[in-house]
Amino acid sequence: MPEREADRSSPYSGMTMNNHGKINEREKNSMKAIVDPDLCIGCTLCVQICPSVFEMHDDKAFAYADPVPGSDIETCRDAARQCPVNAIILEE
Ligand code: SF4
Repeated sequence: MPEREADRSSPYSGMTMNNHGKINEREKNSMKAIVDPDLCIGCTLCVQICPSVFEMHDDKAFAYADPVPGSDIETCRDAARQCPVNAIILEE
């Protein structure tokens, strides 16, 4: 599918603009990832799957990308799905 003009000119990958050229605010802040430290067992799987969002702090994962960039949303969702203890909370 050809890339739309609005998508090419957006600084936020995968985001759209309204007719006035402004970034859609809902899409701009479309996802926030949070790791519940009480649930995280430090398996590092989320960091392996999505290192641009998650990193290890001592023996717990931490989501440092806030908001999650549009280009990382799918891999972030994949990391959340694969977390063995469901410690990753996604706010969309
Ligand atoms: S995948 Fe889940 S349990 Fe493993 S480090 Fe990430 S948040 Fe923690």
